[in-house]
Amino acid sequence: MTPLLPSPDHYLQNLITMTSPEAKRLWRKAIKEHFNCQCVYCGEHYELHELTLDHVIPRFYGGETTTRNLVPSCRKCNQNKGTNNWLTWMRQTFGHTPREKLILSHIK
Ligand SMILES: [Zn+2]
Repeated sequence: MTPLLPSPDHYLQNLITMTSPEAKRLWRKAIKEHFNCQCVYCGEHYELHELTLDHVIPRFYGGETTTRNLVPSCRKCNQNKGTNNWLTWMRQTFGHTPREKLILSHIK
């Protein structure tokens, strides 16, 4: 299991032999593994490479590229969510699910 750290820079600080792209790849992998390679929105499980990382608060609205704002998402959910508010979109699409709490505790 890869340790989940707040940003790629934290991996560089912890593992000095690592290059910047490697740190970024490790960071992205850690976020996906933290959620057991599950799309947080639809709840389906995927292979690491099949998952994208979604900005919970879209970059369009100033959402940052940090661990707390990134969650694993399948391509379909990532695309469909777009710049919608994640909770509104999620409830419209899937109804109330326990995964809301998972996201809420991650972004706090
Ligand atoms: Zn999905």
